[in-house]
Amino acid sequence: MAPTPKQYDYIVIGGGSGGSGAARRASGWYGKKTAIIDAGLSGGCCVNVGCVPKKMTLNYASISEAISAGKHYGYNIEGVTQDFASFVEKRHARIKVLNGAYESNWAKEGIELIKGTATFISEHEMEVKPKDGGEPFRITAPHITIATGSHPSKPKDIKGSEHGISSDEYFSIKYPPKKMVFVGGGYIAVELAGVMHAMGVECHLFIRHNTFLRKFDEMIQETLTNHYEEMGIHVHRNHPGIKEMVQLNPAKDDTDPREKKLKLIMNDGSEMETNELLWAIGRAPEIEELDLDKIGMKRGKSGHITVDKYQNTSVEGVYAIGDVTGQAELTPVAIAAGRKLGNRLFGPPEHKNDYLDYDRIPSVIFSHPEVGSIGLSESEAEKKYGKENLKVYNTKFSAMFYDVYPPEEKKKNPTQFKVICTGPNEEIVGLHILGKGCDEMMQGFGVVVRMRGTKQDLDNCVAIHPTSAEELVTLR
Ligand code: NDP
Repeated sequence: MAPTPKQYDYIVIGGGSGGSGAARRASGWYGKKTAIIDAGLSGGCCVNVGCVPKKMTLNYASISEAISAGKHYGYNIEGVTQDFASFVEKRHARIKVLNGAYESNWAKEGIELIKGTATFISEHEMEVKPKDGGEPFRITAPHITIATGSHPSKPKDIKGSEHGISSDEYFSIKYPPKKMVFVGGGYIAVELAGVMHAMGVECHLFIRHNTFLRKFDEMIQETLTNHYEEMGIHVHRNHPGIKEMVQLNPAKDDTDPREKKLKLIMNDGSEMETNELLWAIGRAPEIEELDLDKIGMKRGKSGHITVDKYQNTSVEGVYAIGDVTGQAELTPVAIAAGRKLGNRLFGPPEHKNDYLDYDRIPSVIFSHPEVGSIGLSESEAEKKYGKENLKVYNTKFSAMFYDVYPPEEKKKNPTQFKVICTGPNEEIVGLHILGKGCDEMMQGFGVVVRMRGTKQDLDNCVAIHPTSAEELVTLR
């Protein structure tokens, strides 16, 4: 007879940002017997191969940019050298600390971490294969949350595409290659091409259309695509696509692609050689091990788990949050959804209807310069409200930081803001900002837009001088 499965109040599959948020509410706040099942490194994508190492690498690259700016300010910058490998060691060490912090928080809050892979046996019972190769065992709970996240996609129909890397493998690189190709026009390609360019790598960005970041406002698309070209990134607009990749010489190891040589054969017959190529063409839900078909769970065309506004899946008592649902694939979204779900399932009566409102979520692209965005783009607003019902405010200027640059150089550093308003009281329905410091600027303006602030609210706030942000409260 099979042993009785171990019983929990709540099982969370996936120890990333969302799963951790949900489990900590259930156990730490509401005292439920909770287990997290995770086969990977604690903290998930954000901590290990996403937001955290990306931002740390951006900080590294921003020092290169500051050093270049220094020459315009009168610094003698000759003889400055870079040691990326030593930075990568420090970054790895920091991430280890964060892995430990996740695990010790879970332990403090009474959450049991099970290192292994979970598969549904029935709607509320799972089999776990331990990571250490031990005997599989079964667990059960009335409430199960799937928070397994996503993984980077690589094209299946391009011969040799496996010779390229994804953002996961990017974070192993200690010795930057001389030349690197980025395929894709979303957050990852734009952010990582910007970082590598700032570090002195010859960067080529292959995009299928005329601009990148096509999910963003037209001003962001056009200004940033043009700016990337002006900075010296080779943006291959309307790229025909890669037909085949041939590896002429392998990388020394995961950390060192300097000697790696790839031949790219394009669909129009042209060819290019590069040391490295990074696929950044979106992410796919991490569902392979779960056996969702066994419990008849409904999924969308892209494989993402279908959920309602309360994060309920089509199977009662089973919920999904974060990237695996394909809803606004952002770490803080997964955390917020996990916490709301934890409150709703296990919290006091006033939380029984908690859910995350996915409308007006601010986000930042850590590009060069940074972009902040919330709400509708101008074309989306036109579609929703009609062009005649919109008032759009634009401003474009050069930030004070560039005042000592030669005029030709100064011109190359745009700051551009757009605020889209509708109705007689000019409610703000879209706010898009691009320029130095916009990453930190965005959160506060996000609050204004979430509160359904109006143009008048911006005008009523006294400007902080001298800043770039003040231009948003003095728009005409
Ligand atoms: P995105 O979904 O942002 O972008 C993928 C891009 O790839 C699209 O712009 C699409 O552009 C292009 N594309 C798709 N298929 C192909 C193809 N076959 N060949 C060439 N280009 C293709 O995905 P990312 O991989 O950049 O990022 C994944 C997710 O991670 C994002 O959705 C984001 O939510 C999250 N993320 C967030 C960050 C942040 O908050 N700062 C940072 C990094 C990631 P087009 O259709 O225009 O051709």
